[in-house]
Amino acid sequence: MENCLFCKIIAGDIPSTKVYEDDKCLAFRDIAPMAPTHILVIPKAHIGGVDELTADNSAVVAHIFSVIPQIAKEEGLANGYRVVSNVGDDGGQTVRHLHFHILGGKKLSTEMA
Ligand code: AMP
Repeated sequence: MENCLFCKIIAGDIPSTKVYEDDKCLAFRDIAPMAPTHILVIPKAHIGGVDELTADNSAVVAHIFSVIPQIAKEEGLANGYRVVSNVGDDGGQTVRHLHFHILGGKKLSTEMA
């Protein structure tokens, strides 16, 4: 999608530090990490956010959630980690392309909101 930052990363027009890629999704390091390990996992097909998921486009989410444990293992997050998806303005979403944050590498705050 035009003017979507993460679509431009997928296309290679904007550089990223990739940690995983297949035909359906891409994982790369967050440019402003909020934990020692902070990775974003995104579908290659543009979906604006969790609020745009439907029965027709959500299979990729199951795929992403099968990839996340592999990434976490490779990143050495054996002690645990957090997976977060911010949605819309109130949820603090700043990039309107569905993404899942993987945060770990330290004992994370227990505050959820
Ligand atoms: P959210 O605020 O949940 O929409 O998350 C968007 C995330 O994208 C933030 O954590 C940003 O730091 C991250 N981000 C923005 N631009 C880039 C970029 N060019 N490369 C990697 N991460 C980025």
